[in-house]
Amino acid sequence: MNLRFGGIVHGDEERWPGHASSVLYLAGCPFRCPWCNTPSLVQTEGFAEQSVEYFLNELSKSEAVVLTGGEPLMQGNAVLGLLQRLDAPVRIETNGYYSETLNDCLPLAKEVQLDLKARLDARTYAEATAFRGDPELLLSNVLRSLTFLEKNGSRVRKVFSFTVVPGVNDSPETARELAKYVSLYCDEFVLRSFDPSDCLDASFKERPAPASDKMTELLKEVQGRVRKAVVL
Ligand code: SF4
Repeated sequence: MNLRFGGIVHGDEERWPGHASSVLYLAGCPFRCPWCNTPSLVQTEGFAEQSVEYFLNELSKSEAVVLTGGEPLMQGNAVLGLLQRLDAPVRIETNGYYSETLNDCLPLAKEVQLDLKARLDARTYAEATAFRGDPELLLSNVLRSLTFLEKNGSRVRKVFSFTVVPGVNDSPETARELAKYVSLYCDEFVLRSFDPSDCLDASFKERPAPASDKMTELLKEVQGRVRKAVVL
């Protein structure tokens, strides 16, 4: 089994706080979020592929491993094959689209970060992520991922990340709804400020990042609903 990847960065101290991690950037994503800050990893073509054995060797001295992308769970069987043989603790960063794969990976991960994108309404979610398939399928997959995290993720630390993008998802109602939805099983809710410096959709580079007052306002909507809420 091979994995399509953009690169590996060793010794990262920021991506998974408290862990000096090797970060594996896997290529390909079913979403096209216009604000995506890893635009080069969204497509599936033009990437190197290597076997699971290659990555096991590359990661054999790693203290911790972060799987990110792109959407790492797009390469389900190969990712699962890697996780089953990795010794180091693993954090998975996912958009929640591949719910069954996420469920299969839960017993093998120490931390999962699921990126929430918009209100949990099929059309709104599909529009925000510029998803080209069936919006109902998209939402039902994300909701199934949330259910799997709640029901089967008791041994996993569950982080929900939400990038606040002006004009897309920056209403207080959206932050409140998302925090409420995951409140019972969320270990940490991370509000991220949209970064216009490098976006998939070039027109988003013209948008200003949210003001700090806006982030504080949204943080207040989330605080009290989840165990821990932070702005990054
Ligand atoms: S930000 Fe959106 S398009 Fe970019 S990798 Fe994440 S889910 Fe995919």
